[in-house]
Amino acid sequence: MEEIKITKPDDWHVHFRDEIILKAVVPETSRHFARAIVMPNLIPPIVTETQAIEYKKRIKKAIPKTDKFKPFMTIYLTETVNRKQLKEAYNNGTVFAAKLYPAGATTNSDSGVKDIKKIMPTLETMAEIGMPLLIHGEVTDKAIDIFDREKKFLDTTLEFIRQRLPQLKITLEHITTKESVSYINESNKNLVASITPHHLALNRNALFVGGIKPHNYCLPILKREIHRKALINVATSGNPKFFLGSDTAPHFSHDKESECGCAGIFNATNCLSVLAQIFDNYKSIDKLENFVSINGSTHYGLKKNKQSITLIKEYKPVLFKKELLINSNSIKVFDPGIKLFWKIKS
Ligand SMILES: [Zn+2]
Repeated sequence: MEEIKITKPDDWHVHFRDEIILKAVVPETSRHFARAIVMPNLIPPIVTETQAIEYKKRIKKAIPKTDKFKPFMTIYLTETVNRKQLKEAYNNGTVFAAKLYPAGATTNSDSGVKDIKKIMPTLETMAEIGMPLLIHGEVTDKAIDIFDREKKFLDTTLEFIRQRLPQLKITLEHITTKESVSYINESNKNLVASITPHHLALNRNALFVGGIKPHNYCLPILKREIHRKALINVATSGNPKFFLGSDTAPHFSHDKESECGCAGIFNATNCLSVLAQIFDNYKSIDKLENFVSINGSTHYGLKKNKQSITLIKEYKPVLFKKELLINSNSIKVFDPGIKLFWKIKS
């Protein structure tokens, strides 16, 4: 049996949703993570400080008493965002970052930004006060092929923002392409990226092999193997510009297995086991701590966690629950398509 002890991890991108789903999924994250950045794409979205405070209260109620877990709240950027209030919320410490969704890019993003020029004054304010900008980096132009939307976003929108505001702290979230890896590497220290376990585990074949697989559908969509390899290489290298943002995104199974299935993969339950297995398979288990516990907090100017966790490698595959049951509905847990031998020592 193999064992490694690492600083307790943080997850820099989670979706907790609300109400019964929130109650069911928060413990799956708070069990193993010390902190998480919580996405604001509820219906209606979190656009004010008051809404963020109220949402945080609901999240805190769902954290089991035995877990020490801190949610960091975000504001959903719209073209009509009030700059003064955003600045106040950041300075008060109630809101940690702002999230940019191009309108229509993913689940509940209809109120997102259509014209980036309209929010440039807001981004200037954020750069001045050091508030991080989190970006879903895909264009939403229907004429652009779905597999090319991230690359197109780099060339147009991201380059536009970076040229004007190189001092703005940006996290390009859930990157999926080799072009994003290069773009981040060639940029200054203010531009970093998060990577999900599912984009490290799967390529786009996983959507179609043997039939359509709605549970592997997420946005940005899975890409070719060449891109997955680029993500693996950079994540397992220890490069400080890349860190975990799981993008764990619960949907009821019936909403994914429908005529128009929702995008999102729920991975909170086995996230760390999947990552440990991938890093181990690529002979880089010694770099896991950088990816899940160090690089993100360093970028956000936070201290690393004082607590630690121990991961154990078993001789036999570790089995996880396949789904969370909520009343008569279920949320399917991510299937990475590989055997998992790593688990967290309780
Ligand atoms: Zn997300």
